[in-house]
Amino acid sequence: MKVLIMYRNTYEGGDGWTYHPLSIEISDYCQAPVEDEEKNPVPCGVKRGTSTPHSFCEDGEFYTVDTWKNACGHVDTYKDCYLEHTERQKKLQKQFQEQNK
Ligand SMILES: [Zn+2]
Repeated sequence: MKVLIMYRNTYEGGDGWTYHPLSIEISDYCQAPVEDEEKNPVPCGVKRGTSTPHSFCEDGEFYTVDTWKNACGHVDTYKDCYLEHTERQKKLQKQFQEQNK
């Protein structure tokens, strides 16, 4: 699913002064780690909730981002979503490079 999140450079160890809404692509399914029958960590896999726009004010500027609620109860933080997105981008880039050798 495509969502609009609030990017903050603290997600990558930055100072927190860089932040802005960012459109990203994440899985339609919850990626929160749960344990399978053999106690191995696996993604939750329940379909994520439908996103709705949410407007807020920060330091005098107005921003609009997406929020959603997952039926499984897991909360997707923007940081986790951002990291999921960057992992996905890296995988796609790798696949593209493999195909174009
Ligand atoms: Zn979940």
